[in-house]
Amino acid sequence: MPPQLGIFGGTFDPPHVGHVAAAIAARDQLATDSLHVVVANDPWQKSRRRSVTPSGHRLAMARLAFDSIAGIEVSDIELARGGSTYTIDTVTELERDGSETVLVMGPTAAAGLSTWHRARELAQRVTIAVIQPTGGSLARLHGWRTISVFMDPLEASGTRVRELLQGPGGPEAEATLARLVPLAVMSYIADHKLYSA
Ligand code: ATP
Repeated sequence: MPPQLGIFGGTFDPPHVGHVAAAIAARDQLATDSLHVVVANDPWQKSRRRSVTPSGHRLAMARLAFDSIAGIEVSDIELARGGSTYTIDTVTELERDGSETVLVMGPTAAAGLSTWHRARELAQRVTIAVIQPTGGSLARLHGWRTISVFMDPLEASGTRVRELLQGPGGPEAEATLARLVPLAVMSYIADHKLYSA
C-alpha cells in the first residue's frame, strides 16, 4: 500500500486552539504516515476579501503552535512555491514519492470545495477528512471521497481572534485570547505588533 499523507492546510491567521485540536484529532484518528500543516502562501479566496497577514509571519506562528507536537510537521511548501495557493499543486508536489493524500478540513472549508482550483481533478485524487462534532453524521459532498475526523467543537476561528485583538481589549478579551491562542503565538503577535487596529 502506498504511504498515506495527511495535509491540514489553511491560512492560520493566526493559528488557534481549534487548529491544534483538529490536527491532533486527525493525527490520532487517521494515523497517516505523516501529517503536514501547510500554511497557504496566498489564500486567494480570502485575500480577495480582506488583508491577510504576510505568509512569513503566519508560517512562524504555525511553527510556534505546532512544532512541539509529535507526529505533526509544519510545511513551507506553499511559501516556497509562491504566488496564489492552489491545493492541487501542493498535492502534486507532495505525492511525488507515490503517496496518497488525505486532505483534512473543517465543514465550512469542505462546503466550499467545488470552488477550489481544478476541483474535479482534486476530487479524483484525494480523500477529504472532514472534522465534525463527535457523534455527528457526515454531510454528503457530492463527487468527493469523504471520511470523518471527530472532535468536540471548539468555538475558535481566526476571525474571532482577530476581532478580539483589534477590539478595545480589557480583562475579558485578554482571558478569551489566552484560552484561544497558544501562549507562544500571543507573544509573537505582541513582539511583531500584528493585528493592531
Ligand atoms: P478565518 O476565520 O480567518 O477564516 P479559520 O481558522 O476558520 O480562520 P483557516 O486558518 O484557514 O481558517 O483554517 C484552517 C483549517 O482549520 C480549515 O479547514 C478550517 O475549517 C479548520 N478550522 C478552523 N477553525 C476550526 C475549529 N475551531 N475546529 C476545527 N477546525 C477548524
